Amino acid sequence: MMSCPCDCVGGDTGLPGRKHLKDVKYMFGIVGVPIIEIAIAAQVAGIKYVGMRNEQAACYAASAVGYLTGRPAVCLVVSGPGLTNALSGMANSNMNCWPLIVLGGSCDTNQETMGAFQEFPQVETCRLYSKLSVRPSRLENIPSVIEKAVRTSMYGRPGACYIDIPGDFVNKMTARSAVSFAECCLPRPISLADSAEIQKAIAELKSAQNPLIIVGKGAAFSRAESSVRRLVDECGLPFLPTPMGKGVVPDNHPFCVAAARSSALQNADVILLLGARLNWILHFGLPPRFQPDVKIIQVDICAEELGNNVKPVASLLGDVNAVTQQLLERVRKLSWKYPANTDWWDSLKKKISANEKNSKKLASGESVPMNYYTVFRYVKEALPNDCIIVSEGANTMDIGRTVLQNLHPRHRLDAGTFGTMGVGLGFAIAAAMVVKDEAPGKRVVCVEGDSAFGFSGMEVETICRYNLPIVIIVVNNNGIYNGFDEDSWAKMMQAGDPASVAPPVSLKPNARYEQVMTAFGGKGYFVNTPEELQKALNSSFSDKNAPSLINVMIDPQSDRKEQEFPWLTRSNL
Ligand code: ADP
Repeated sequence: MMSCPCDCVGGDTGLPGRKHLKDVKYMFGIVGVPIIEIAIAAQVAGIKYVGMRNEQAACYAASAVGYLTGRPAVCLVVSGPGLTNALSGMANSNMNCWPLIVLGGSCDTNQETMGAFQEFPQVETCRLYSKLSVRPSRLENIPSVIEKAVRTSMYGRPGACYIDIPGDFVNKMTARSAVSFAECCLPRPISLADSAEIQKAIAELKSAQNPLIIVGKGAAFSRAESSVRRLVDECGLPFLPTPMGKGVVPDNHPFCVAAARSSALQNADVILLLGARLNWILHFGLPPRFQPDVKIIQVDICAEELGNNVKPVASLLGDVNAVTQQLLERVRKLSWKYPANTDWWDSLKKKISANEKNSKKLASGESVPMNYYTVFRYVKEALPNDCIIVSEGANTMDIGRTVLQNLHPRHRLDAGTFGTMGVGLGFAIAAAMVVKDEAPGKRVVCVEGDSAFGFSGMEVETICRYNLPIVIIVVNNNGIYNGFDEDSWAKMMQAGDPASVAPPVSLKPNARYEQVMTAFGGKGYFVNTPEELQKALNSSFSDKNAPSLINVMIDPQSDRKEQEFPWLTRSNL
């Protein structure tokens, strides 16, 4: 094994010591030939290793640590299929702009091109899924390649980096003096926007009739919560968080117009976009969801992002937190504040109160089977204010986002930019590992559609093995989008082979997902009524440590309230 010549922890572990991996605290993976020694060496070097059940979930978990902490975690995988299983996690991380390191074992160098065990063009494959995909040319270069990967994953627009480790490098010996060690990289540099663009931006905001701030997950990543909060407060501006921008400014802030989302987007004339892309989540910034002549003030760390889909009136290239402080300084200098008694505020407030009334009506239903809104009303009442909410599924995620509040930044993880289903359990495991270290006692709540839960349900074993403080709530409608009750299902089964007659959206009615949790020693609840749901929630949250799963049966045909625009509105391109 390679030894570290400096005094850092790690010693004779085969990995560079902790000093060189200072930015890495967690590793998720599945061990096997040829990387098992790397996992052991990582633990010796002080990195926490979490053994998962599928590389895809392991990679989702590692990527979520990157978002939550700002530092990359490692996903460690075996060669060939191990690596290809992790590709979804790499793609998801890269699409979300989250730092991540994937370490993949690969075949011995002297067997390459010979049809070696699990041989695969891994470096070439990972290029499409990452910012950097490399194999150290020599054992002695591993520390400097790792330093470059950690640095690249965090600097500029964050993303995924892949390092290929041939099997024969793992146990090879070399002289300390031959190793080229690299000090850990400096923290990510913070860049400021051009001051002329700052002046332009504030001039546009000042002349706006209907201004709006959109807070994206780039603001959450840059830890801009206190500067954005001050900007909102001091300027008196309405703001709208994107799904993962929720909590940067608390959802219950009086200037939050999330309950009038469509109306705010459609009628705003000047929008300050803080770390969010004008992609499908924001309907490309185009009609019919936006004014055709909407003025965008765009703040982003990535120069190439500026001007995507809509040409901005001011391009603020820089770190959201730093740029927001620049904007604040300018606003203070001009002593400007958007008035509270405008038609814009009136119309937004009217819309908010009408929408809230509508949702309350839907949530007041007590009939069995329950609808989504009733379920989320009880979940909302039971959730600790500071819990991290992980959510995925179609209606489960969309409705849950509107009902469940985030009062803290980086406390919501969901299907994200890539719209990935199956991320939930990996994300929840990552969040639980981080809170165990950084905020003990905090809970992680994973609100899953039944279809979404199925993608990585076996990670419940991982959750129980590490006794993670996670409550999983499966909102079960027996299908993808919609399902069928037991009677309709039985009738369908009489009509022929299920593969020929069962609608592709259907899943087995009344599946007992809670038994996956009890199988591994956690607590499971099967819930049909509002009373049973309340009891299960109380019992899950009162037991501080035990993982639990609440399987909530809802009406298989339950749907969203009528939408003015469907979520995936076609743009007028
Ligand atoms: P959302 O999903 O909330 O709409 P996106 O993922 O689409 O957000 O956009 C996030 C944007 O934030 C990306 O364009 C990314 O380049 C940018 N970003 C990431 N980190 C920072 C930062 N520290 N400062 C400024 N922009 C950032």
